[in-house]
Amino acid sequence: MPTYDYRCSTHGRFEAFGRMKDDTREAPCPSCGVPAGKVFLRPTMIVSEERIYTPYECPVTGKMIGGSRRAHEENLKRHGCHVYEAGETRDEERRREDNFNAQIDKAMEAVDKTAGELGYGV
Ligand SMILES: [Zn+2]
Repeated sequence: MPTYDYRCSTHGRFEAFGRMKDDTREAPCPSCGVPAGKVFLRPTMIVSEERIYTPYECPVTGKMIGGSRRAHEENLKRHGCHVYEAGETRDEERRREDNFNAQIDKAMEAVDKTAGELGYGV
C-alpha cells in the first residue's frame, strides 16, 4: 500500500497508508483525529544536458551543431579547440602571462649577455 504525506495544522506532518481506490486527499491526524490535507510533493525537475545547449552554426564549417554538450565538444575538438570549464579560463590567462614573462626574462638575459660580450656590460 502506498503511503502519503499529510499535514495537520496543529501537529504537523505525518504519513498514512492509502489504497488507490480510496479518497486519499485527506487523512485523520493520528494525534487529534482532525482531517489533514495531503501534501503534494513537487516532482523533481530533471534538466538534461541535452536541453541546456542550444544548437549553433559552426563558425568553421557553417554546419549546424546539435544542442548537446557532447556535440559542442566534439565539434570544437574536430577543429583543434579546447572546451574551457569554469575557472579554467583564469588559470589559462595566468599561464599565458607567466609564459610571456618567462620569455621576456630570457630575452633580457640574452641582451645582457650580448651587451657583456660586446663590452657594454653593466
Ligand atoms: Zn493533529
